[in-house]
Amino acid sequence: MEILDTVIIGGGPAGYSAALYCTRAGLSTVIVEKMTPGGQMATTTQIDNYPGFDEGVDGFELGDRMRKGAERFGAKTHYADVTGVSLTENPKKIATTNGDLYAKTVIIATGAAPRELGIADEQRFRGKGVGYCATCDGMFFRGKTVAVNGGGNTAVEDAMFLSKLCEKVYLIHRRDALRASRAEVQALEKAPNVEFVWNKVVTGLEGADKLEKIVLQDTVTKDTTTLDAQGLFVAIGRVPSTELFKDVLKTDAFGYIEADETTRTSIPGVFAVGDVRTKPLRQVVTAVSDGAVASKYVEEFLTAQA
Ligand code: NAP
Repeated sequence: MEILDTVIIGGGPAGYSAALYCTRAGLSTVIVEKMTPGGQMATTTQIDNYPGFDEGVDGFELGDRMRKGAERFGAKTHYADVTGVSLTENPKKIATTNGDLYAKTVIIATGAAPRELGIADEQRFRGKGVGYCATCDGMFFRGKTVAVNGGGNTAVEDAMFLSKLCEKVYLIHRRDALRASRAEVQALEKAPNVEFVWNKVVTGLEGADKLEKIVLQDTVTKDTTTLDAQGLFVAIGRVPSTELFKDVLKTDAFGYIEADETTRTSIPGVFAVGDVRTKPLRQVVTAVSDGAVASKYVEEFLTAQA
């Protein structure tokens, strides 16, 4: 049985940054990734706030380059779903759909996933009109009428992106003021095919095989109306991916794994990096910073155990 120095769960920017620093420190390192390197970042076509790219960079490409950068020094990517973890044992066990891994330390880099509406028929229309990533799926709605739900930066950016592809875009928000940054909102207000739908929540979805109508309830009058649309992009925030860890690791009120700037969690030898960790700013640049910091404390932990 091979016992690795560290297993990193999640191949986003935090995970691959941790892998780069750990392998360069001479630690045997495996990253478990279920789909595509890059995590949520890989679903963004244009990243303008990651330093070093004067014209921005495609998130998918950046994720792949981060993977290659870490693998150049010996990190290995293990493509599988993690099905269970034993974090308090020594070695720690990471069960996956492609075999079990054992390691002295574990770095959790599972990120956060889009929040779902939690209404009837959401799963039935998933991929049949309902989506969570406009930059990934927007092209399927070229020339059609779509809606975006949410009032944050993601919703406003999604609506702007879709306004360039679609005939008509509704932005549905549960209040009458957006929380997105002013500059983004002003740009969206100038788009001629965008209509703001205020004080409404999505309460139902209708259609034969694909989405045809969105049922809305007014948050003030409680009246119900419908909106004809072939697409609905849900952009109502994100939830941390902590299903496997929430019963054993300390989390905050929103479910994020409690870890300070050292990335150490409530279990010795277990670290949390990137969007899954309690932190004030969740960005690519802060995720990669966490990865580097974690490697320092992984090394410190391993030295103390030796
Ligand atoms: P967010 O800022 O948390 O906004 C979520 C929006 O969804 C809010 O307007 C909220 O309404 C609404 N909402 C939440 N739960 C809802 C529900 N159950 N039903 C209906 N509406 C609901 O999330 P985000 O837009 O995904 O952004 C997340 C973070 O990433 C933010 O810090 C954001 O600034 C950042 N971000 C930055 C960029 C950029 O810098 N370019 C781009 C995207 C995101 P209320 O307003 O009423 O609470």
